[in-house]
Amino acid sequence: QILSSGANPEANAPFMYRAFSSDSTTIRATLFPGDGIGPEIAESVKEIFKAADVPIEWEEHYVGDQIDPRTQSFLTWESLESVRRNGVGLKGPMATPIGKGHRSLNLTLRKELNLYANVRPCSSLPGYKTRYDDVNLITIRENTEGEYSGLEHQVVRGVVESLKIITRQASLRVAEYAFHYAKTHGRERVSAIHKANIMQKTDGLFLKCCREVAEKYPEIKYEEVIIDNCCMMLVKNPALFDVLVMPNLYGDIISDLCAGLVGGLGLTPSCNIGEGGIALAEAVHGSAPDIAGKNLANPTALLLSGVSMLHHLNLHDKADQIQNAILNTIAEGKYRTADLGGSSSTTDFTKAICSHL
Ligand code: NAD
Repeated sequence: QILSSGANPEANAPFMYRAFSSDSTTIRATLFPGDGIGPEIAESVKEIFKAADVPIEWEEHYVGDQIDPRTQSFLTWESLESVRRNGVGLKGPMATPIGKGHRSLNLTLRKELNLYANVRPCSSLPGYKTRYDDVNLITIRENTEGEYSGLEHQVVRGVVESLKIITRQASLRVAEYAFHYAKTHGRERVSAIHKANIMQKTDGLFLKCCREVAEKYPEIKYEEVIIDNCCMMLVKNPALFDVLVMPNLYGDIISDLCAGLVGGLGLTPSCNIGEGGIALAEAVHGSAPDIAGKNLANPTALLLSGVSMLHHLNLHDKADQIQNAILNTIAEGKYRTADLGGSSSTTDFTKAICSHL
């Protein structure tokens, strides 16, 4: 047994903000299999959850094939209603065409469901060797604004403009989440990551809000680190950081860098936290079109995202059982997918995890 639940269940729930309770024996959760490798890795999650007797009934929603006027995207209104109703869900990656086409499905979900904080834990896996063996970081990414506000236009021919929006409300909200997270998860330090030396107004406001919140948490150390220096420090010595909070675009980039420290995108989970305690878990990675449909994808990142969802649902024993089976399978080394240097297919790796349950 690699991990076990401690006395404080909240400390074991990497994404939990508000405990979820249900009187029913079966819990309904929304599942978006998504695009590319999404359906293959979602199948793996369903198989392993079933083998572990997890009392979840999935409400599956695929991305639609035409624009739904109520969401103005290919996401159906019913799928958003499903997440709102269930309060919890698991999402596969969704592809976004580069430079043209429809509004990003991920942005639509984040905006429509007000998923304001994206929590991306990144830890060294016992039994899988990388250059570091002590990575234990949490990236908390503001998820609703910044450079991802979708406000871009051509000013005149040859000149385009993109607006970076930072608001006091969204910055305070994500900073509060980060400090609350640090306090309830036994973390010592929050680092605000920024480029306020150049983006004086936008990142300046973000920092101002972080400082305000930091004052409410004197027991948590607070520091500010410029993003370029942060990248260098992370690569040199990830143990220098604990919880990192940052505007949207920086969070997107830094969390991929962190994934690289522990073995790659096949391993890192995340969860989007919304107003009212909505939790939509998803892997950090995208739809991996280069390996889609080939039975090569590593389902670990989505599985660990599913594990975090189980903690959120207070199903700690099931979460621990599945997490241990994943970690033991990887540590044993007999069945690993190609991204971890092995030659197992997604389905063989899935079967191996089931046999470790
Ligand atoms: P990506 O994360 O899909 O892939 C980057 C690299 O990592 C690829 O070589 C891929 O094969 C590998 N990889 C990713 N996940 C893997 C897994 N589970 N197992 C093994 N290898 C894995 O990034 P990309 O290629 O830049 O983006 C592809 C598409 O995904 C784009 O349309 C992008 O917009 C979208 N995307 C979606 C999300 C999301 O839904 N949250 C996140 C990032 C990117």
